[in-house]
Amino acid sequence: MTTNEKSIQEINEKIKDGSVCVVTAAQMTQIVTELGPEDAMHEVDVVTTGTFGAMCSSGVWMNFGHAEPPMKMSKVWLNDVEAYGGIAAVDAYLGATQPSSSRGIEYGGGHVIEDLIRGKTVTLRAEGTVTDCYPNPDLSVEIGLEDLNQAVMSNPRNCYERYGVATNTLDKSLYTYMGKLLPELENATYSGAGELSPIVNDPQFRTIGIGTRILLGGGEGYVIGCGTQHNPTGGFGTLMVQGDLENMNSSMIRGATMTKYGPTLFVGVGVPIPIINAEVAKSAGVSDADITTNVLDYAVPSRNRPVLASVNYEELKSGMIEVNGKEVTTSPLSSFKVAQDIAVYLKDLIVKKEFFLSEAVKQLSSKDTVYPLRPRKSASPAAIVSPVSNQFMHRNTDLCIHCGLCVPHCSAGVFQQDSDWIVIDDQSLCVKCDDCRDICPQRAITVRS
Ligand code: SF4
Ligand code: SF4
Repeated sequence: MTTNEKSIQEINEKIKDGSVCVVTAAQMTQIVTELGPEDAMHEVDVVTTGTFGAMCSSGVWMNFGHAEPPMKMSKVWLNDVEAYGGIAAVDAYLGATQPSSSRGIEYGGGHVIEDLIRGKTVTLRAEGTVTDCYPNPDLSVEIGLEDLNQAVMSNPRNCYERYGVATNTLDKSLYTYMGKLLPELENATYSGAGELSPIVNDPQFRTIGIGTRILLGGGEGYVIGCGTQHNPTGGFGTLMVQGDLENMNSSMIRGATMTKYGPTLFVGVGVPIPIINAEVAKSAGVSDADITTNVLDYAVPSRNRPVLASVNYEELKSGMIEVNGKEVTTSPLSSFKVAQDIAVYLKDLIVKKEFFLSEAVKQLSSKDTVYPLRPRKSASPAAIVSPVSNQFMHRNTDLCIHCGLCVPHCSAGVFQQDSDWIVIDDQSLCVKCDDCRDICPQRAITVRS
């Protein structure tokens, strides 16, 4: 007896007993065309997708471990590429697009990430904020990936569902994040892997959600939420993803530089689509001809660039599109070869019982939209909180978070915590010793000078 639904658990059982049927997204397009979604759903258990393109919105969280003497790293560089160090003492976030201070845009965060994955050592340089507990002011050492406590790729926005095609009507070349755009519509560049791309195979997010196990840079990763600028309503959904750098492969993660624009990172992502019902089978049967996008004129330096034409990915992949009556050569910014390699690699892992599917713990929104920057006319000045009491010590109960830090500091017993952990104070007990000055991390306690 056949049913019209399959659970992830049932599919995982089939992976375990070796009876699972896995096909790539490109193969699924053919299967759905030939059999229709109903029969395709019974035939196929998992569709593997893949994409390998420049994903500027990528980076890595790192924990370096404590130096001796210890240091509160406030400024951090890896091979002269600055990472954000405003987190605790020995953590930093290295963004893919940050350029090197010594080599400019030819080497950036994306290249450091690739070097670490390749097993190279990099120079960690840091400046510290000297405190009583962190006396070390600076440091410069060589480190490799295996020396880091954690190196977690955590990408706020990857896997755009589709992207606008870039072209240029000016009489000079433009250098952009979409590559070099030749004058007078001589070329057009586009992004995304078309029918192989993850989200176009499940645009309603019926199977992709928080907790979905994926392939990120060739290693195991997870979807951790909607990507920033997630705009499924407009056909531009995105994913926020995470994975351990240690398991990644440099053939699926590559630093790059867009000429006269800046560094970036090519990221390989493969997402398995469990074919749980006929609707999902139908979505996974998407073809390049079904995926349309707009051709935009980058000559206009505005977020509202003029739309010159509407095209589909079949036309884009043919190498030529028509814009304003002119034949325009197209070239992809993504590698279809590596995207296909990723889809096949993921398929092989599943067939070899080395990759199982996970149930999403929360669906991603299929209704979000995105807005441009909306500045307020004038920012209101921050409220100034000042002591209002004649008492020697004043505790501002609006600021107090009831942490209790002040309680043992007052030997006169002014501060107490009740049975619900609420901090109260009895001013009548105060002996004006001044010991509570500066103790409150919320600056809720003020003491008269
Ligand atoms: S230390 Fe400050 S925030 Fe904490 S309980 Fe005391 S007054 Fe409140
Ligand atoms: S001034 Fe001294 S006695 Fe008064 S509340 Fe602060 S610590 Fe307690």
